[in-house]
Amino acid sequence: MSLPWLREPWRQLVADYNNQRFGHAHCLPNRIGLGAPTYTETLVKFLLCIEPSQQACGKCKSCLLMAAGTHPDYYEVASEDNRAIGVDKIRELTQQLQQTASQHGSKVAWIKDAQRMTTEAANALLKTLEEPSANTYLILSPERTSDLLPTLRSRMRLHTFSEPNQATTQSWLTQQLGRSLTEAERVRSQQFPGAPLTALAALKGNFADPADFVTELASATIQNRPWPQPKKDDVQQWLEASLAWLQELIRIRQRVAQQRLHYPQLTQVAEQWLQREQISVTRLNGWLALCYNLRKITREQSGLNLPLLLQQQWLQWKQRP
Ligand SMILES: [Zn+2]
Repeated sequence: MSLPWLREPWRQLVADYNNQRFGHAHCLPNRIGLGAPTYTETLVKFLLCIEPSQQACGKCKSCLLMAAGTHPDYYEVASEDNRAIGVDKIRELTQQLQQTASQHGSKVAWIKDAQRMTTEAANALLKTLEEPSANTYLILSPERTSDLLPTLRSRMRLHTFSEPNQATTQSWLTQQLGRSLTEAERVRSQQFPGAPLTALAALKGNFADPADFVTELASATIQNRPWPQPKKDDVQQWLEASLAWLQELIRIRQRVAQQRLHYPQLTQVAEQWLQREQISVTRLNGWLALCYNLRKITREQSGLNLPLLLQQQWLQWKQRP
C-alpha cells in the first residue's frame, strides 16, 4: 500500500482475512481525497488472487485476468451519468453471484456509487447479504457510509479511514513533488484537511475545489450576482457544478435529512430562495434534465460552443412562468 495513512488499515484487513475474521460484505466509503478508490481496488484484486500474501500476487491466472480486465468472476456496478442504480441492475448482479465461480476461486462484486441505489435496489441486495453464497464478496462504495440504508449497513463491515494529520500530509506531498513545499503551498495544502490527494492536485494546479464552483453558482442564482464566465478549459467543471448545485437544490426542496446535504453552508439561503420564488421539484428536475442532456451531447458531438450553451441554461433558471 503506497499511501502511508492506509498502511495500518490494510495490515489489519489482511490479518483479519488470514484469521478468517473477514466477512463477505463490506462498505468502503469512496473518499477520493484519501485514496480510497485505490485501496478498494487493491482489496478486490487481493480477494480474487489465488495465492495472495500481503497483496495480490500479480502472477496467478486470476491476477492476469484482472489485469486484462476480463475476470469472469468480478462484477462491477456503477451509476451511468450520475443516474440512479435501479433494481434491475442489482437483480442481475445477485443472479450472477449465485452461479459457481468459473475460476474456482472467489467471486467479487463492487458496487460503486452505492449511494445512488434506489430503495428497491437496496432491498434487492438485502437477500444476498442475508444468504451469501460461498466465497462471494460484496463491496459497496457509497460517498458516505451514512448514505446507505440502516438495514444494509447493519449487515456489512463498515470500514473507516482515519485522516492523516498535517505533518503526514505535508511530508507525503514533499515526496510526491520531489522538493520541499513553499510557505504558500503549505498554507494551501491546509485547505484540504484529510484529503492529501486533493491537496496534491491543487498544488499541481490542475484542480480547483469543485465546492468553489458551486458556491459561485449559488450566489449568482440566489443573490443575483453576475453569472460566471466559463472558458473552454474550465467549462466542464462549470457543467459538473451546475449538476451538483441543482441536485443539492432538489435535496433541499425535498427536505432530506441534514446529513445528506453536501453544501450545508448554503442550505438556509437556498431554502429561502426556493420558497420566495416558489420553485417546485418538478422545475428543478426539468433544469437538471437539460443539464444532463447538455453533458450528453457534448460527449457525443464536437465543435459545440459549450460555454454559450451552458450560460443559456443558467438564464432559464431565472425565468419565471
Ligand atoms: Zn494472484
